[in-house]
Amino acid sequence: MQTGAVLVTGGGRGIGRAVAERLARDGYTVVVTIRRPLTAEVQADFDQLGVRTVQGDVTVAADAERMVADCCGPDETLVGLINNAGITRDMLITRMTVAEFQAVLTTNLVGAFNMTKPALRVMQRQRRGCIIDISSIVGLVGNIGQANYAASKAGLIGLMKTTAKEGALRGIRCNAVAPGMVATAMTAALSAKTTQRLQESIPLKRFAEPAEVADVVAFLLGNQYITGQVVTVDGGLTL
Ligand code: NDP
Repeated sequence: MQTGAVLVTGGGRGIGRAVAERLARDGYTVVVTIRRPLTAEVQADFDQLGVRTVQGDVTVAADAERMVADCCGPDETLVGLINNAGITRDMLITRMTVAEFQAVLTTNLVGAFNMTKPALRVMQRQRRGCIIDISSIVGLVGNIGQANYAASKAGLIGLMKTTAKEGALRGIRCNAVAPGMVATAMTAALSAKTTQRLQESIPLKRFAEPAEVADVVAFLLGNQYITGQVVTVDGGLTL
């Protein structure tokens, strides 16, 4: 049984939801950030999982501050922040607009910074905590049509390594998980032909299930001596 609260951004679906479910099962107090106004139906769904919710947009610094402040009761410790919220706006560089480039950087990288800043302050006071950034193998190797996404996910690794160095002074760890292809709404948007071509190119011949990424997040949260690392979860795609 684990103790303490873990805040998961973009926990309403996909990898974030799988992380929330897994960490709740492990005994953490899990709080997910939800961007859209909370409907009674969504709230009931999370109530059933035993997961709390806070509403806000990670790109808005004031929302990020509030979500970190509201996720813990006065006697609770914030033991983890999982920076999972992310978007794609794919296009070849020669056709990509500055707005498309900036939108992805703003959500995936500035959003993670907005959350990390107040969470790190809390964790430094507690002298305890762990931050996990959901990057991507695209941040390590690049990808045609994803200049904005690759830049954001590579930038996240720089943010993670710096957070690890600054946090270590007070015993706080920070790591990144770099998934390959995961079966979520993000990849469901790909054509059947592209999905088949991608699956054939993966040595393990399939996309990951979100729970397989959540396994790694749970491990990194529990381990007390790994910091500043990128753990790839890609079925061998970058071999
Ligand atoms: P989904 O598109 O299924 O979910 C993304 C989540 O992020 C949603 O809950 C979404 O909320 C939330 N979100 C987006 N923008 C914001 C914002 N501004 N503020 C708060 N929340 C926001 O994606 P996945 O589950 O597939 O991806 C999760 C993470 O994993 C992302 O960072 C992604 O880049 C990364 N990843 C995914 C891979 C994959 O193959 N699926 C591979 C490698 C990395 P809302 O419901 O309101 O839109």
